[in-house]
Amino acid sequence: MTATEITDPAVADAIVQAVRAWIDTDVIGKADDFEHADDFPQVMFDQMCAFGLFGATIAPEYGGLGLDATTYARIIEELSRGWMSLAGIVNTHKIAATMITRYGTDDQRASLLPRMVDGSFRAAFSLSEPDAGSDTRSMRCKAVRDGDEWIVNGTKMWVTNGVRASLVMLLAKTADDEVTCFLVEKEPGNTSGGITASKKIDKLGYRGLETVEMSYVDHRVPHSSILGGDDGIGHGLRYALSALELGRINIAARAVGVAQAALDDALAYAKERETFGKPIAHHQAISFKLAEMATKVHAARLVTYDAARKYDAGERIDLDAGMAKLFASEAAFEVAMDAVRIHGGNGFTTEYRVERYLRDTPLMIIGEGTNEIQKMVIARKLLAESG
Ligand SMILES: Cc1cc2nc3c(=O)[nH]c(=O)nc-3n(C[C@H](O)[C@H](O)[C@H](O)COP(=O)(O)OP(=O)(O)OC[C@H]3O[C@@H](n4cnc5c(N)ncnc54)[C@H](O)[C@@H]3O)c2cc1C
Repeated sequence: MTATEITDPAVADAIVQAVRAWIDTDVIGKADDFEHADDFPQVMFDQMCAFGLFGATIAPEYGGLGLDATTYARIIEELSRGWMSLAGIVNTHKIAATMITRYGTDDQRASLLPRMVDGSFRAAFSLSEPDAGSDTRSMRCKAVRDGDEWIVNGTKMWVTNGVRASLVMLLAKTADDEVTCFLVEKEPGNTSGGITASKKIDKLGYRGLETVEMSYVDHRVPHSSILGGDDGIGHGLRYALSALELGRINIAARAVGVAQAALDDALAYAKERETFGKPIAHHQAISFKLAEMATKVHAARLVTYDAARKYDAGERIDLDAGMAKLFASEAAFEVAMDAVRIHGGNGFTTEYRVERYLRDTPLMIIGEGTNEIQKMVIARKLLAESG
């Protein structure tokens, strides 16, 4: 691991404050309308582009902001405090940018990264399949070489941002035990060449942005689209899993943001709602719940920032990122559930935001490696380290 150039603290604070102010004024009160209608929030997307968030971690030499992982995690936390889907709109793009930066050839970096900074050329990440989620070895999507091209056939599942994307980081088998990552350029929309977004998945939460099933039928891509060039053949899974390690910090940051929102709403409601002659915040059962929620949010934030700081320092973060993702996502789910309980019957209605927080939190438990898989990875590492 190499260290990241640390963002000037004044610059980091200014960006985070700007995003925070925007979330407070333009997102918190409006997100539910988009969410309930499952509508893409174009106006919010435009503002994210204006902030430069699609190039947040892309190096300045390619036109990006070059922010460190800690600052980026703080931004993701703020976006998710307003609406977790906003973090999802930018996240697959960030995974792609990380993979291209780390493993792309000079030509791939020079041709793709400058187009990725302003949000007009967006990226999706496509590893999962109907029968290959945790078990990536069961992948069936295949690419077969034909001269200077590869022919791709197969079905990918859960492609978030797949329709609007212009670039798909596609993981496909190039031999029985060999997975390669292809930089598949496409037209935004449901079809492009042999690619079809065959089914838009209707989700419990994480709504407003599309997650689709995507099929490839004899779709041809140039040989030059292999991430890393000839050296990248057979290394796609390693490249993807290494980018997902950083992705776990972002999932943890999302969880912190949603948990903070749930705590904020629960606090406000507990002070306002009265039963038996006093605000419910003054019943010990509720005040203890609030105390536990605040402690979980605080701990989740610390473990997340700690992993981000270690990443920026160039340290190995496989254990830390997994722990942050595991702890923060479980904490967010518990905090969101408690926020619903504090809201009583109102918590069970779409009039209050807490029902959305509860619907959004399971994704952080499942996405980018389920928490069961995180526990396996953490335990394996602990056992190895203990000799
Ligand atoms: C809304 C959403 C968006 C997504 N977006 C993307 C995306 O953009 N790109 C992408 O590639 N993927 C995406 N995914 C896919 C996601 O990464 C997978 O859903 C996840 O990795 C789990 O895989 P699975 O759904 O196949 O579950 P499975 O692997 O079938 O797991 C089912 C259950 O079994 C458990 N399990 C599996 N194996 C083991 C084991 N060995 N030991 C113990 N427990 C085990 C799991 O923890 C889980 O509880 C998305 C998923 C969702 C829900």
